[in-house]
Amino acid sequence: MIQLRGTRFLRSLLLSLLCVLLVGGIGKAQEKSVLTVAVEPVFAPFEFRAPSGEIQGFDVDLIRAVGQAAGFGVEFRNITFDGIIPSLQAGTVDAAVAAMTITEARSQAVSFSRPYFRAGLAIAVRSGTQGIKTLDDLKGKSIAVHIGTTGATTAKGIPGAKIRTFDAAVLALQELRNGNVDAVIEDSPVTLYAIKTGSLKGIEVVGNLLTEEFYGIPLPLNSANLPRVNQGLTTILQNGTYAQIYQKWFAAQPPQLPDSAFANAQKTQTTPAGSLSVILNALPTLLKGTLITLQLAVVSVFLGLIGGSLIGVARLSAIKPVQWAARAYIDFFRGTPLLVQIFMIYFGLPPLFQAIGLSFTFDRFIAAIVALSCNSAAYVAEIVRGGIQSIETGQFEAAQSLGLNPVQTLRYVILPQAFRRMLPPLGNQFITLLKDTSLVAVIGFEELFRQGQLIQAENYRPFELYATVSLIYLALTLLSSQGFGFLERKMNPARRDKAKKV
Ligand code: GLN
Repeated sequence: MIQLRGTRFLRSLLLSLLCVLLVGGIGKAQEKSVLTVAVEPVFAPFEFRAPSGEIQGFDVDLIRAVGQAAGFGVEFRNITFDGIIPSLQAGTVDAAVAAMTITEARSQAVSFSRPYFRAGLAIAVRSGTQGIKTLDDLKGKSIAVHIGTTGATTAKGIPGAKIRTFDAAVLALQELRNGNVDAVIEDSPVTLYAIKTGSLKGIEVVGNLLTEEFYGIPLPLNSANLPRVNQGLTTILQNGTYAQIYQKWFAAQPPQLPDSAFANAQKTQTTPAGSLSVILNALPTLLKGTLITLQLAVVSVFLGLIGGSLIGVARLSAIKPVQWAARAYIDFFRGTPLLVQIFMIYFGLPPLFQAIGLSFTFDRFIAAIVALSCNSAAYVAEIVRGGIQSIETGQFEAAQSLGLNPVQTLRYVILPQAFRRMLPPLGNQFITLLKDTSLVAVIGFEELFRQGQLIQAENYRPFELYATVSLIYLALTLLSSQGFGFLERKMNPARRDKAKKV
């Protein structure tokens, strides 16, 4: 008996040991051989895609060389710039190369390697623009920036500036080309590279290197990999590999780099704010965004309802070409993603008009409303068609025998009945549209979701912010379904009559 117990004990001991070894081994192997490195390949010449689809750039060569020198491999993971710090905080990636400037605020959230690149901001304007040379000249002007960057922070400090934030530097520069803003504040090497390679025409840089910034490789706070990354960087800085990579991408000798990004190297560590105070501080701005979301949803649903009803009726027309046109419209707007439609309308249409000699720019509100209403009209059209077709043919015949013409039949007999049946799907459509308004954030529209993103890009508290944003959306959708439920009850003749009798 004792012996049996002994073997059982020994067996579980061995099993636990094996587990510990396995887990430890996997952990060690990951730490040793391959680091997962976040990258957003839309920032040439630091990280971008070759025509073959492969990720390339200064940062890409640099981290590979660092890995080689320090004995680790690199596996890239595509993450948007404003998502990089949250991903490092969550530990989903081990490091990032993102031409990321070492700042005091970011140093509270992540640990930076030693500086590996000297850069600075530059102002870009349309060629021939007069009177913009310095940051001071940008007072009261409209400026496009990339979300969460030092360019965005700098723009925020300019009195009276109207700022539009985009998800990528290229989109901000496209906004400038399209004539929607006066200037872009962006990292100088990136704008200069785009101009030099000819991918950005009609744009020039004024006021070059307005700031001095140093890029660093961010890692999770106090990561165990930090010493290895630093050691690798030091090695390639000393053995000439760094200079070679620099020469390859910038055709110049690299400047001298400091050991630390801050002159007074001591970092001031502040205690992070509590969740409640993060939410309370964000609430006023989020509510401002909520108002814009509501405005967008209500105006677009109204226009979508009018457009959709007309298209829905056209879909049932006896005239074939009208029917086909309605069908083509519905197929296009239902069959392509709303996000693509928004890009198409806002970024795609102005160059098209400009190419045929028309000076045309889009107001963002109009562009957002056009995209949302056109899209929702397609869905409403199908709801209207379904609603009308659900009415029994006897009703049409009865109306005809009463001497009503087709328009009167529709107006007095069919639509009132069909509308009641259309209400539940229309309610669904409104809720979908309400949520879809978050997509117009891509054109720099500061609705609810974008406001959350903007605050998150500064305080690096994604959980609190996105949870609050979701709760606000939830409150809005619950309220709308209550509203539609009320309407349905109101329009139900059986219930209405009952209510009258009581
Ligand atoms: N260097 C800038 C920053 O860190 C921009 C980086 C980027 O857009 N990838 O904010």
